[in-house]
Amino acid sequence: MLGKKMEKALNEQLNNELTAAYVYLGMSAYCEDQNLPGFAHWLLMQSKEEVGHGMRFYKSILDRGGTITLKSIEAPSSRYANLVEVFEKALEHEQAVTRAIYSLYRLAESEEDYASHTLLENFAEEQVEEEKNALTILETLRRVGKDGTGLLILDRELGGRLAEEPK
Ligand code: MG
Repeated sequence: MLGKKMEKALNEQLNNELTAAYVYLGMSAYCEDQNLPGFAHWLLMQSKEEVGHGMRFYKSILDRGGTITLKSIEAPSSRYANLVEVFEKALEHEQAVTRAIYSLYRLAESEEDYASHTLLENFAEEQVEEEKNALTILETLRRVGKDGTGLLILDRELGGRLAEEPK
């Protein structure tokens, strides 16, 4: 069974993941605008992955007899000063998601909800990857600076990202 406190918190996390999907979609649109198809593709894949994360919370709530409460998703920006800003924001966003997952984890512990515990453990692990990806791209962008060739190579590389199988 799913306690009311946990049900509310998991519904909030469902909203957080869908908000992340929307943020990445805005970033992808910005990169399309800047004629950076590889970056746009990578960010679109990321957006889809976030929908997948949201659906894992959705499914978990339903599987455990809980009720889904869908809330509004805040409008993200699709205007950025440059690519560095895009990935600074992406990293900040992932760090905020990590904090949200950790606080859910603490709640699962205090509620003795071990099913949520396991679900959240997977997400905590996933966040390591998410933060690493955003940070690696950000650091590469900083290194590339105004070097157009470097940017082109990075755009090609990010364009090769494959769609991941939903977990
Ligand atoms: Mg996520």
